[in-house]
Amino acid sequence: MKKVVKFGGSSLASAEQFRKVRRIIRQDDSRRYVVPSAPGKRTPDDTKVTDLLYNCYGMAAREDEFEDSLKVIRQRYDEIIEELKLNLNLDEEFKSIRENFSKKTGRDYAASRGEYLNGIILANYLGYGFIDAADIIFFDEEGNFDGEKTYAVLSERLAHVDKVVIPGFYGSMPDGKIKTFSRGGSDITGSIVAKAVLADLYENWTDVSGFLIADPNVVEHPKAIDVITYRELRELSYMGATVLHEDAIFPVRSEGIPINIRNTNAPEDKGTLIVEGTCRKPRFVITGIAGKKDFASITVEKAMMNSEVGFCKKVLEVFEKNGISIEHMPSGIDTMTIFVHQDEFEEKEQKVIAGIHRAVEPDLVELESDLALIAVVGRGMKATRGTSGRIFSALAHANVNVKMIDQGSSELNIIIGVRNHDFEAAIKAIYDIFVTTQL
Ligand code: ASP
Repeated sequence: MKKVVKFGGSSLASAEQFRKVRRIIRQDDSRRYVVPSAPGKRTPDDTKVTDLLYNCYGMAAREDEFEDSLKVIRQRYDEIIEELKLNLNLDEEFKSIRENFSKKTGRDYAASRGEYLNGIILANYLGYGFIDAADIIFFDEEGNFDGEKTYAVLSERLAHVDKVVIPGFYGSMPDGKIKTFSRGGSDITGSIVAKAVLADLYENWTDVSGFLIADPNVVEHPKAIDVITYRELRELSYMGATVLHEDAIFPVRSEGIPINIRNTNAPEDKGTLIVEGTCRKPRFVITGIAGKKDFASITVEKAMMNSEVGFCKKVLEVFEKNGISIEHMPSGIDTMTIFVHQDEFEEKEQKVIAGIHRAVEPDLVELESDLALIAVVGRGMKATRGTSGRIFSALAHANVNVKMIDQGSSELNIIIGVRNHDFEAAIKAIYDIFVTTQL
């Protein structure tokens, strides 16, 4: 068995967290490849080391004095080293960081030092080897991840090591310059390493016990999701459910490697298992509910539009020309409705209306704003009759007016449009009918 284990910032924010991490790794000999983030927040109002580094580098770039700010960063690491009684000194590392900041080596270089230093400390504490991500994760000249080069080098390099720490979040460009993924990108590094070694499992350790069926800010103590498929997860994360960086799914998915989201602070919890497919029956008909507010809808009405060849294309071209992305597009026999992000649409609204008039000569163009979209996702829906019926009767009982409904052709999700102010009530009602009443 080979496992890649990635630990997020809060899992490595202090010496106490490092101890938990070591305990977890030692519990299972197959946890051989370890990918750390930079130290995160120790308390809710603390600052992540990555943000401290961005700030500090900002000062250096403006040629302001940055020594004090760098000292604060160093203290975060020194505290961990001292408390863990490690035989390790970061003098040389900070000397070269200081020099590179003065030389304005780059913002990405600055941010990457968070993971780099944490990786050195963790490797020392675990007695594992250390590989600098700059030597094995590559980007091309345009700054896109270079999979071909990375997997060739990484697989070869890891074939000869048994236990190793690889810092997350960054790699290097063809000229050797450091480049990072977008924020939260250590998840991607973990996924890349898992693909390179063809791991049996990619464990992603964080501070929650996996994905929850609904947002805990909306539903009180929602149940956790035991198993979710990659497709379901895509639907939910697109609609705002976040725990894992979206791009972390692709490398492991292409190899059929499952991801297990686990909680460093509650290692006995099984967390959520993300898989390609499963015949395990889901516990509830729905796997999860997620949603977003602040959409606008544009309804275009024209008698006999269904028989007019190219009607939809012409309408959509108007949005394309104005650079507005479309979220959903339910249609009727003589109408089509387009959902867009309100903030993106507002400034171009009149241009779009004029464009639609010119393109298709509609009978009516109607606008509505302050709408929310809710996605009810579940592989169990396909085999269950009456799911949409139950959703709508629950919403009617909760006095929520449904503005739009759109069932994906995969029968994996039902998207419901409601008014912004009904958003929370709608999610609660759907959760109750599918989960609370089934317990
Ligand atoms: N430390 C980086 C961030 O805060 C990357 C990560 O944690 O995954 O975004």
